[in-house]
Amino acid sequence: MEPRKENPLTDPVDPFAALRGGLFDTIVVGAGATGAVVAARLTEDAGHRVLLLEAGTDPAPGSATERAVRNSLQPPGVADISWKLRTHIKRATASNDATGTWTYEAGRIVGGSSSINTVQALRGAPEDYDDWARSCGEAWSWKSLLPLFRMIEDDDGGDERLHGRGGPVPIRREPPDELRPLQRGLLEACLARGFGATADHNDPATTGVGVIPKNEVDGIRMSGATTYLEAARRRPNLTLLTGVVTHRLLLDGRGHCIGVEVQAGGQASTLHAGRVVVCAGAVNTPALLMRSGIGPAHVLAAADVTPRVGLEGVGQGLMDHPAVGIYGVPQASACRRGEPIRQVLLRYSSAGAPMRNDMHIYMLAGLNVDDLFPGLGARVPTVAGLTAGYNKSTSRGSVSIVSPQASVAPRVELNCLGDEGDMAPLKEGVRLAWSLMQQPALRSRFAQLLAWTEAMVDSDVALERAIHSLVRPSAHLGSSARMGPAHDPMAVVDPQGRVHGVRGLWIADASVMPRIPSAPPHLSALVVAEKIAMELRRAA
Ligand SMILES: Cc1cc2nc3c(=O)[nH]c(=O)nc-3n(C[C@H](O)[C@H](O)[C@H](O)COP(=O)(O)OP(=O)(O)OC[C@H]3O[C@@H](n4cnc5c(N)ncnc54)[C@H](O)[C@@H]3O)c2cc1C
Repeated sequence: MEPRKENPLTDPVDPFAALRGGLFDTIVVGAGATGAVVAARLTEDAGHRVLLLEAGTDPAPGSATERAVRNSLQPPGVADISWKLRTHIKRATASNDATGTWTYEAGRIVGGSSSINTVQALRGAPEDYDDWARSCGEAWSWKSLLPLFRMIEDDDGGDERLHGRGGPVPIRREPPDELRPLQRGLLEACLARGFGATADHNDPATTGVGVIPKNEVDGIRMSGATTYLEAARRRPNLTLLTGVVTHRLLLDGRGHCIGVEVQAGGQASTLHAGRVVVCAGAVNTPALLMRSGIGPAHVLAAADVTPRVGLEGVGQGLMDHPAVGIYGVPQASACRRGEPIRQVLLRYSSAGAPMRNDMHIYMLAGLNVDDLFPGLGARVPTVAGLTAGYNKSTSRGSVSIVSPQASVAPRVELNCLGDEGDMAPLKEGVRLAWSLMQQPALRSRFAQLLAWTEAMVDSDVALERAIHSLVRPSAHLGSSARMGPAHDPMAVVDPQGRVHGVRGLWIADASVMPRIPSAPPHLSALVVAEKIAMELRRAA
């Protein structure tokens, strides 16, 4: 393969000199999971010049960071490739100011969060996308999106009517003999409890317990950097700049987006293009819009930003999947630090579920103890445990800026359990996870369980209290600049991805999902980006 192109920011005095006045057709902000798709698809047209801007790093092939990122068994745990967003788990209320904070990992590196995630390659349920279609039109229905789910993947493990071959994202399932003891224990415990087995979690008709499809090949992560960008970045019509933070979008007097204001190595500059596509992720995309004067009037006023376009939905409606874990210290023979973090998943429907498979229970194994239980690491090599995640949460959080400066992090309120309807399925899920932990196939593989007791799980009051203090997000953020028709006052982009009220500005990342699907969102985000890239090509 040809070597990578040189980074054009070589002049230490004026790093942007070589680019100023450069004629780009499209600027894409964010070289994460979705930015990689958009940049790769647009540059398939050799006459279309794309500038792809990434705030994070581009690890050199063979470097320690690149090796950590390539390993798909566990998230890389490298400090300077994450935004490490300080988020508030709960929203403060008059009676509760103990909101608790959580350091949210979000990739700040080529490939974005797909370079640090846990590589589950799961589709949502058909009902999730049919729900999108109700507000965004038939083009977003399951029937319309299935060809895109097939197009993006290379999955030789499933029914050909449902699965694609030869697409950019390889999807693999570990064979049964590669399951680690705790994962096999979860499988056996679920079967003993009467759940059915599934061979393909991405079959829309399926439910039950089975091996997780993953975007990895032989332990190597298949991130956006590897799948879409590796070849595209060698094209002469794609310029990738890393270590460049986009501060603001430039709007002209007619409300047309004409470029971006950027900063790298202490130098600021403006870069122009015919249009801008924002793919900065569910927190940084709304923050960038707000810094540019596009957003709710009260947030802009409080942050001292001159309003340009009033769009009340920017930063509102933030979603994640709330989850609660029951952890323990595994027997030394059952689990090793650094082994695959996930292999087996149970999907089932909670009592009174709004749709099938609203619950996930999975085993997280081989974890770094100090990430979860600071101080315990001196005594035990690793921890593992079952997590119950609720995937149809009705709680909504928000992102708001507190300053016009990109260097000041936005305020992120996840508002977990903000809607009390989330409590019942989580209680049921924790009780089921606890009972699975008591099955011989799992209990015999743990030396000790941490924090939880039978009495806590049995008592409604104690269980609710424990869930309130232990609930965590799942790193499945989305819906913070959602898609919808112009008459929806909270819609930020139209069903083609164009920002309402601004010409030449598009969003094509996880922020635009009307609601996140009832599964981890990576594959769905790729489909969103593919679909909006098609619109961009049509509009070019
Ligand atoms: C720890 C973790 C585990 C996860 N596990 C899974 C999983 O197993 N399965 C799954 O389906 N999903 C998972 N996800 C979610 C999945 O990775 C995301 O849904 C997906 O990456 C979203 O794509 P995106 O393009 O919207 O954002 P990202 O992939 O995060 O990309 C955004 C990019 O924009 C860049 N950027 C941001 N602001 C600026 C700026 N101002 N200027 C320039 N660049 C900027 C960022 O550095 C980043 O590279 C996980 C996420 C995390 C963080």
